[in-house]
Amino acid sequence: MSGGLVTAAYIVAAILFICSLAGLSKHETSKQGNLFGISGMTIALLATMMGPDSSKIGWVLVAMVIGGAIGIRLAKKVEMTEMPELVAVLHSFVGLAAVLVGYNSYIDHVPGTDVVMENIHLTEVFIGVFIGAVTFAGSLVAWGKLCGKISSRPLALPHRHKLNLLALVVSLCLLIIFVRTESVGAQVFALLLMTVIALAFGWHLVASIGGADMPVVVSMLNSYSGWAAAAAGFMLGNDLLIVTGALVGSSGAILSYIMCKAMNRSFVSVIAGGFGTDSSSGSEEAEQGEHREIDVQGTAEMLRNSSSVIITPGYGMAVAQAQYPVAEITEKLRAKGIKVRFGIHPVAGRLPGHMNVLLAEARVPYDIVLEMDEINDDFSETDTVLVIGANDTVNPAAQEDPRSPIAGMPVLEVWKAQNVVVFKRSMNTGYAGVQNPLFFRENTQMLFGDAKATVDAILKAL
Ligand code: NDP
Repeated sequence: MSGGLVTAAYIVAAILFICSLAGLSKHETSKQGNLFGISGMTIALLATMMGPDSSKIGWVLVAMVIGGAIGIRLAKKVEMTEMPELVAVLHSFVGLAAVLVGYNSYIDHVPGTDVVMENIHLTEVFIGVFIGAVTFAGSLVAWGKLCGKISSRPLALPHRHKLNLLALVVSLCLLIIFVRTESVGAQVFALLLMTVIALAFGWHLVASIGGADMPVVVSMLNSYSGWAAAAAGFMLGNDLLIVTGALVGSSGAILSYIMCKAMNRSFVSVIAGGFGTDSSSGSEEAEQGEHREIDVQGTAEMLRNSSSVIITPGYGMAVAQAQYPVAEITEKLRAKGIKVRFGIHPVAGRLPGHMNVLLAEARVPYDIVLEMDEINDDFSETDTVLVIGANDTVNPAAQEDPRSPIAGMPVLEVWKAQNVVVFKRSMNTGYAGVQNPLFFRENTQMLFGDAKATVDAILKAL
């Protein structure tokens, strides 16, 4: 394949990637978006393999078959609730790839006579390895926090912001040494030392973020992985990788910004890896009083006597896979003339849009699934709210306790309804590790048990 044809194929692939992002921005077009992405990637892979710069295709095919087989196996095995962990691991791979490409580009490079070009090359290598190492280590911590292997509580090292700043300043000094020195030994030392610092920096950056703020971190790492891929594109001289990396990097940055706004957080402090950690709450595990319980029959009776119902699902609904009986209850209540709607918090579950995906899967009509801002004013006129496996996203402490780690985060104001029934298995805290005063309110009753089993039982009782 000639160079011109490869460039043409890359342009087509880049356009398909842009169409893919556009498609993925809406439920209705998300399948098409995926298809655009798959087609773009297929064209990109074929053009790269058949292009004039490729050699040893046999090895590339072997690597693709092994990688593809592992990918297909893992993707088939993974549960919907494990998707965020999978995404975090995939981000770490992009980071690791950028580090390896950086080292390879440094070792494999034949120095030329043009000093400016040489300096640009060395700077590309250094920055590529730095971003890659930060993404790799940060994504591993995010994976650990998402699957519960690392505590979701923020790591609060003394002087942590100064430590971050120090890591950046030392890395900048090492960059100057790396580019300026003529000694290969000093160059290798600078590159290795920076890699270790970048790994520690990435680790610390994500470790110091609290559980409730993880959604922003995940989208931020998505953005970093894009920039790491773009950096690898510069080192490999591959235009499509630069374009694709920039698309992922900028769309991830926009998503992080949207998430920050939705959660009332400062974008700059997320990038600095410190928000949500300065508050030390005394209320995390504090005793909040007595809670009241309700049984399945009581809940069914309450629903029958209601004229308006709002369901606010959360991570527990995903774990229990309760979306199908929830959809059936919705249908049944609507058939009785009861107004049923869903209130979706932007960070409910463990993925952006997690609840929307589950409800769409169970065929809940889109027009009764409302965003938090669209429904928050309606709780005071609602008879019954069913909180199904949600916790942090319905926690009034976010508004009422300025010392809470989730202080300032907008939440679904479910407590304003006449009756609230909370479906969960115990009095345990949510992902942020913060106790929820909602459970102790006078108008709240707890319905303990696996959400699927209890919703199934209510369905029968109705
Ligand atoms: P939470 O994670 O706060 O709480 C989920 C609740 O579900 C738990 O209290 C748990 O209580 C209950 N639960 C778990 N399994 C079951 C089950 N089988 N049946 C019934 N209940 C169950 O959920 P939210 O959705 O309200 O909040 C999401 C949290 O995750 C936020 O803090 C958010 O910031 C964070 N996050 C979100 C991401 C995103 O992109 N959306 C990404 C990363 C983090 P019990 O154990 O007692 O049953």
